[in-house]
Amino acid sequence: MDLTILYRGPLASCDYDCPYCPFAKRRDSGDQLRADRAALERFAGWAARPGEDRLSVLFTPWGEGLTRSWYRRTLVELSRLPHLRRVAIQTNLSCRTGWLADADPAKLALWCTYHPGQTPYDRFLTKAHELTALGIRFSVGVVGLGDHLEQARRLRAELPAHVYLWVNAADGHRYTDEEAARWTELDPLFPYSRDPHRSAGLPCRTGESVISVDGEGTVRRCHFVPAELGNLYDGSYRRALAPRACPLAVCDCHIGYVHLETLPLYDVFAGGVLERIPAGPLPPRAPAALPAVVPARP
Ligand code: SF4
Ligand code: SF4
Repeated sequence: MDLTILYRGPLASCDYDCPYCPFAKRRDSGDQLRADRAALERFAGWAARPGEDRLSVLFTPWGEGLTRSWYRRTLVELSRLPHLRRVAIQTNLSCRTGWLADADPAKLALWCTYHPGQTPYDRFLTKAHELTALGIRFSVGVVGLGDHLEQARRLRAELPAHVYLWVNAADGHRYTDEEAARWTELDPLFPYSRDPHRSAGLPCRTGESVISVDGEGTVRRCHFVPAELGNLYDGSYRRALAPRACPLAVCDCHIGYVHLETLPLYDVFAGGVLERIPAGPLPPRAPAALPAVVPARP
């Protein structure tokens, strides 16, 4: 079967200090870093073993992974394995990019977020151009806060046209139609992010073909539903995999609702679901109204 894994180990430190993030400038102790490294290496060892599944893996660390050698090495090594379909990570792109030359660019991809105020604009854009030169697939995004708008517009104008620029609705922020239209001009898919998706009782691929794994190997259906399905390393998760409905009222994060079967996002992002890269060109103009598939705010 095709199995998608969202891996999040104990790492929580980050080299940035974003005002909207609880992990800003957090430091992990030496012991915590060693534990994160050991957990990642255990997971990578499991993923590297050929089995009956074809795996796609997205690393979603709380903090920044690519400043740590063990994440860079794991991404490169997994990208070179035949049974790995895709390996991707969410990153602030503060790391150097040369290590990516050792990866298989057909398999490794990056979900990059630009955080204005944390790094000079030109430095981020230079890194993006380096990724393009290396042939690495990547998306770039920003949090849709008003003071990010001008730099987001600049990025859209200066990134290669084929690079998708996504915009995430800021946590807890309600957008007027005028504000939403401004962000939708930059990201035609912003209407999917604008409001939480009503998900209670709706079929979601998580728990069947998508699982979340933590540093202990505990398997849950997604990062947001705490119920455990078993453990990755003893294989006990396997018998729990089944079609199932979402038990929560809403799903508010792209790495969750992209898997909702009631949304068309597997088609929109076909071949790039994990790294958030659409399959084809998006409509150049903002839609006048939200797509009908986006449920109204509950
Ligand atoms: S880069 Fe990401 S993890 Fe780091 S402080 Fe900013 S939002 Fe948090
Ligand atoms: S809809 Fe979101 S919260 Fe619900 S099960 Fe799917 S990923 Fe988890």
